Amino acid sequence: MVQEYKLLIGGESRDSSTGKTFDDINPATLENLATVQVAGAEDVDRAVEAAEKGFRVWSDIPAPRRADVLFRAARILQERKEELAVLMTEEMGKVLPEARGDVQEAIDITTYAAGEGRRMFGETTTSELKDKFCMTVLRPIGVVGMITPWNFPIAIPSWKIMPALIAGNAIVFKPASDTPMLAIKLVEILMEAGLPPGVVSIVPGPGGSVGKSIVQHPRIRAISFTGSLDTGKWIMEECAKTMKRVSLELGGKNPVIVMDDADLELALEGVLWGAFGTTGQRCTATSRLILHEKVKDEFIARLLAKTKSLRIGNGLLPETDVGPVINKSQLEKIEKYVRIGKEEGATLLLGGSRVDPGLPGYFFEPTIFTDVMPEMKIAQEEIFGPVLSIITVSGLDEAIEVANNTKYGLSSAIYTENVGTAFRAVEKLEAGVTYVNAPTIGAEVHLPFGGIKGTGNGFREAGTEAIKEFTEVKAVYIDY
Ligand code: NAD
Repeated sequence: MVQEYKLLIGGESRDSSTGKTFDDINPATLENLATVQVAGAEDVDRAVEAAEKGFRVWSDIPAPRRADVLFRAARILQERKEELAVLMTEEMGKVLPEARGDVQEAIDITTYAAGEGRRMFGETTTSELKDKFCMTVLRPIGVVGMITPWNFPIAIPSWKIMPALIAGNAIVFKPASDTPMLAIKLVEILMEAGLPPGVVSIVPGPGGSVGKSIVQHPRIRAISFTGSLDTGKWIMEECAKTMKRVSLELGGKNPVIVMDDADLELALEGVLWGAFGTTGQRCTATSRLILHEKVKDEFIARLLAKTKSLRIGNGLLPETDVGPVINKSQLEKIEKYVRIGKEEGATLLLGGSRVDPGLPGYFFEPTIFTDVMPEMKIAQEEIFGPVLSIITVSGLDEAIEVANNTKYGLSSAIYTENVGTAFRAVEKLEAGVTYVNAPTIGAEVHLPFGGIKGTGNGFREAGTEAIKEFTEVKAVYIDY
């Protein structure tokens, strides 16, 4: 008998109004890990009502005391890190060391946000008039809706929930249907840490129904969304109708430039893990390698050798480097793009097929295309799988032009030993994040995270910027 999870609303486990459930499938073994109740519009209403009550209590608690709850939650996450990481590998397939990293990111942001509880600063400023004092204060927004994807099942929800909580908001949270269990565990941990009832409710279910109810709910004041560009655009249009604040963290087509003066061994490691870590299913995954023609042959030969040595299989096994992709439709999407790449005339150097490591799950070979032209679909569209497209260039200006030739603008990287080249790239690359001599992956909580162009709409997660996403600035004039 697999466990059935109910909704968590107002601090209680509650049956959904729909009477429906969905299965939580292990993508490596296809085993059913749990069934989860599907929330309906009525449940979203209840969660909003609970959140409004929770908000009144929570926003009245001074921020440093709210921080006490977050510090406790960080400790519980730390104590349960291994158990959560194992569950994550089972639920979404990423290899165990990466799953530990995902939980660690949650611990980091929880601790960081808790620290911000003592730094909820406004500003004081001057006035044109005598006997007048001018200042700003930060106020919470109210009830915030959060909708998240499956690829960082604990880190992404935590990057949203923790800054929102420290700022005093209440939350109605819909996790991705591929990773509901970890989301439920995260909310349970917050409750165990002392979060008052109703401050965070969780309403699992399909984006097209539950997600839609959250986005369109008249009493939800802001939406924080991470997911695909198409869903993000729809959400932004809907939010305009009810004048909700909306922050979007969307897809990427992240380039890494390897110059002819790069430390090639360092670059090889960066490209390998940037492209194939998490089976290519990171918003920051390296999907385009922009390679200087002078090092092309040597770099490709060494990259092929390294990629061939990657071991594909169940992420729970210590020998596995690359786990499964998340589900059948993702597998089919990757296959579709491999077909498109071949039809477009790119050369398939490695991989390109499903693979059977002795398990029934969704495994795909690390795949490398070369002779890719910048305009090809495989160089423009997000595949979200272990597929790398190599584009050759003759110098820095061309490399930057190619790198910027995409609708997305999340992460970017350059490998070079020349400091001038590195700074030029930092200045010119159109992306929210640029790494020098490091892969396109590996964001820390101390710096703002987010993208430009088709990746985002100006908000940033993590760092002190995260507080801005979840606060209103009030100007205060005091005459004396
Ligand atoms: P998705 O857009 O299909 O789904 C994301 C979430 O939105 C899920 O919870 C889904 O149920 C929900 N949803 C779907 N349709 C909805 C609707 N009409 N209304 C409300 N909610 C809806 O994306 P996905 O396939 O789950 O995730 C992968 C995408 O997320 C990739 O594009 C990836 O680049 C992006 N991503 C971005 C970041 C970032 O920080 N920029 C981080 C991780 C993932």
